[in-house]
Amino acid sequence: MFSSALRRLLPVAFVALGCSVNFTFAQASQTGAGSRPPATQMPAPKPHQPEPPPPPVTRASILRGAYGPYRANNDLLSYHLDIRVDPIKEIISGKNTIRFRMLADGTRIQLDLNDALKIDKILLGTTELKYVRDSGAVFVDFPETLKAGQEYSIDFYYSGSPVQTGRFGGFTFGKDPSGHAWIYTACEGIGASIWWPNKDQWRDEVKNMQISVSIPNGLVDVSNGRFMGKTDLGDGYTRWDWFVHYPINNYDVSLNIGNYQHFSDRLGHLSMDFYALPEDLDKAKKQFSQAKGMLEAYQHYFGEYPFKKDGYKLIEVPYSGMEHQSAVTYGNHFANGYLERDWTGVGISPRFDFIIIHESGHEWFGNSITAADSSDMWIHEGWTTYLESLYVEYMYGHDDAVKYLNGYRSKVKNEEPIIAPRGINREPPQDQYFKGALFINTLRSVVNDDARWWKLLHDFYQHFKYQNIMTEDVVQYFNEQTGMNLTPIFDQYLRHTAIPTLELKFDDSKGTVFYRWKVDEPAFQMPVRVGKKDGWQIIHATTDWQTMSTSLKKDEFDVATDLYFVNVTKE
Ligand SMILES: [Zn+2]
Repeated sequence: MFSSALRRLLPVAFVALGCSVNFTFAQASQTGAGSRPPATQMPAPKPHQPEPPPPPVTRASILRGAYGPYRANNDLLSYHLDIRVDPIKEIISGKNTIRFRMLADGTRIQLDLNDALKIDKILLGTTELKYVRDSGAVFVDFPETLKAGQEYSIDFYYSGSPVQTGRFGGFTFGKDPSGHAWIYTACEGIGASIWWPNKDQWRDEVKNMQISVSIPNGLVDVSNGRFMGKTDLGDGYTRWDWFVHYPINNYDVSLNIGNYQHFSDRLGHLSMDFYALPEDLDKAKKQFSQAKGMLEAYQHYFGEYPFKKDGYKLIEVPYSGMEHQSAVTYGNHFANGYLERDWTGVGISPRFDFIIIHESGHEWFGNSITAADSSDMWIHEGWTTYLESLYVEYMYGHDDAVKYLNGYRSKVKNEEPIIAPRGINREPPQDQYFKGALFINTLRSVVNDDARWWKLLHDFYQHFKYQNIMTEDVVQYFNEQTGMNLTPIFDQYLRHTAIPTLELKFDDSKGTVFYRWKVDEPAFQMPVRVGKKDGWQIIHATTDWQTMSTSLKKDEFDVATDLYFVNVTKE
């Protein structure tokens, strides 16, 4: 997503080109080719610039974003989404069977379904249930009290033409270049309820899910999970059945219907399945081979691929890509970099396919570990952007990883805090990606012990895998494991707009330098490497002035700003 400032500056046609990394072609070309954009198009970050006015909070955004009482009174167990997709009439129809356990006695639960879709009926057994639709929410009423601790299952029947909307299209009835139907979903942000009824929030996930998609004979559906088989329905349609063995967030649930060709590979016991259009098959076989190195790199740092029973899949689509769980979608032109650009502008992006590396990184951060509110989406995007640099480090070494990460500096805006307001379906600004990754790299320098850092990363992932967490959980874990109080550092980077500024005042005649952090957090303190690059000295700077002796003059005195994402002022 773009901050409102950038969105205003980009041509509408470019904004419509969505991708899960939320950057348009226009932006990639502005910053990716190594040329500086004109100042009028992308102003330099102003650390203390007031935040732009927030977008309006609507009844729909509260109903979608809040974990209200009719969501909190139940816990999802499973979905079985069973739909028929008609490419000619461009309609979908079918049902979602929703199993849940009540956590408190109640007669009402909240589900969600976009108003463009018709509710045909909602059944508890054979009893037809009443419901109230309100701004995208569907409040389902039960004739008798549902009891705490009991499990229930309802069948939610619906039909209609889903709208094509949102950054990524939502639900798209398209055609491939040969004229075959090419139908796909990508609904991060706009929400899964754009095309199917569900409890459309981030906090609660089903424990598993069955996806059945009936489509005209001859087409292929690739959805999340393990392929269980297909059944000829005898009326010109075939049902494709998929089973997701793990918790899955709603926006990851996807269908990809097309004239796909399939090929496969293995990494140890992990199945890898690839789907591409016939005309792109040779290119896909070459480009998708990068998935193995990606999996090896991430497994090295974090442990086993999270969705082994479902396998890893990579599926060609016409938009740039999305992290759909165990069914990552890909549209990066079968070329390295991002949309054929050097994404971070420092010569390293052209060595690998950005979409394969980034979107698949979300399997660990975003899909396995999921934020419980979209406000804290840096847990997906900041971490996955940092994972890109871990891939670079694994393949090419530490120096290139640092170079790659610092290529992101020019994309940081420092206009809004990374953590957005909670409970209103608000997504954070673009800084959640680049500033988020540079912040995590800063934490590595604060820990200042790589063996400890690698263990911390691995254990952090393992501790929270398959869970939905908030920033407070991350901070608490890092504090406990390091024995440090990192809360003010997390807060400065995530809850304020400005990054820390190290203020230096030199007295060359006395050979001293005064130093302190200029920050918003009063309790902020962070060690930082200063002096000369071949022999850094660590100072433990706080918000109070301290002094140190130095033989270096003002011009010779450096700060390791490639290892710490900070500003420096000298006087
Ligand atoms: Zn992403």
